[in-house]
Amino acid sequence: MSWEEGRGRGAGEADLGTMRYPTRALVELAAIRENVRLIRETAGGAEVMAMVKADGYGHGAAAVAGAALAGGAGRIGVAYVEEALALREAGVGVPVMAMVCTRGDEYGRAVAAGVDLGVGGLRLLEEVAEAAVDAGRAARVHLAVDTGMTREGANAQGWPELVERALKAQASGRVEIVGIWSHLACADEPGHPSVAAQARVFREAVELAERAGVRPEVRHLANSAAALYLPETRWDLVRPGIAIYGLHPAPGLPDPGLRPAMTVVSQIAFTKRAAAGSGVSYGHAYTTPRDANVALVPAGYADGVPRNGGGVLELLAGGARRRIAGRVCMDQFVVDLGDDVVEEGDEVVLFGPGDRGEPTAQDWAEALGTISYEVVTRIGGRVPRTHLD
Ligand SMILES: *Cc1c(COP(=O)(O)O)cnc(C)c1O
Repeated sequence: MSWEEGRGRGAGEADLGTMRYPTRALVELAAIRENVRLIRETAGGAEVMAMVKADGYGHGAAAVAGAALAGGAGRIGVAYVEEALALREAGVGVPVMAMVCTRGDEYGRAVAAGVDLGVGGLRLLEEVAEAAVDAGRAARVHLAVDTGMTREGANAQGWPELVERALKAQASGRVEIVGIWSHLACADEPGHPSVAAQARVFREAVELAERAGVRPEVRHLANSAAALYLPETRWDLVRPGIAIYGLHPAPGLPDPGLRPAMTVVSQIAFTKRAAAGSGVSYGHAYTTPRDANVALVPAGYADGVPRNGGGVLELLAGGARRRIAGRVCMDQFVVDLGDDVVEEGDEVVLFGPGDRGEPTAQDWAEALGTISYEVVTRIGGRVPRTHLD
């Protein structure tokens, strides 16, 4: 399938197809489906909760959720209650879990909509249980235990009391304990001593809760890297995020065969001949070494091309990899083509799966000193997403 053929057929295209915008993020839903299928096979009998927080890591949360469910996911995870409610409004009917619950969130609406809530503290539990009384139905909670990341969840001192209070709230019909969960700090480094330590603490926390009478539907600990590489962490459910988008959660480890779903394209806005010694873009951080054809690409840091990518990031333009010349501006950057010729309106590929020789999000991440998560998630809100299927 060519990109052209795909246009006008994907979910969301009705809104985006008429929008004239030079930079676009194309998202292959088939890749997401297949990635989920591969993770599900790898993770054995574990259920899959597809993580679509932050608008599906920049790919479009509702469309990704649909593709992930088609690929065999049974649940959806997000960070915030508002994200979960937006998915309910978009028609997602399977369990949706908000992992990062904060006091004062819209728990009444969340409980009424049957949103699963990650709860790791007593005050939050109380607030959620009160909202359940008003909503007239039990709040579905997943109790969070801090097994050693020192992020969400009750630590070893607080866990017994959280369990006890949750059981009381359950006995009074205000809460239903659906899950027990934690998160790993170093899943992308198998063999890191913290992995075994966290796995052990998690097992102890689960045993304590079950001895106290908790009968959770799902016990879950594994993100993408753990789901793929750490069988002992899979329990009943895995929570892959980055891998469903086809990006490698642990680039040092063997490639499991994922396909990157996002391609970001733009088009040449303008070309001209520049004389040798021309200072390019703000600060003249780049100077043309000789007479050269230069091209303007209308994508900048507002669109997710990081400003510090100037001079280091590559893209595919005129059939070859070129490096961004000089500083990235808010809305545009410049490419030095030497004596090569491109036409105004020609497509350029910022990153993608690599099929045509373009860089991948992982290549960009390495050039920028960050992780692929940040590259795709930062694609700006004004860039239309076109979902291809
Ligand atoms: C984001 C997140 C995940 C997914 O992590 P990946 O590394 O993208 O697979 C899983 N669990 C929690 C709690 C998260 O916040």
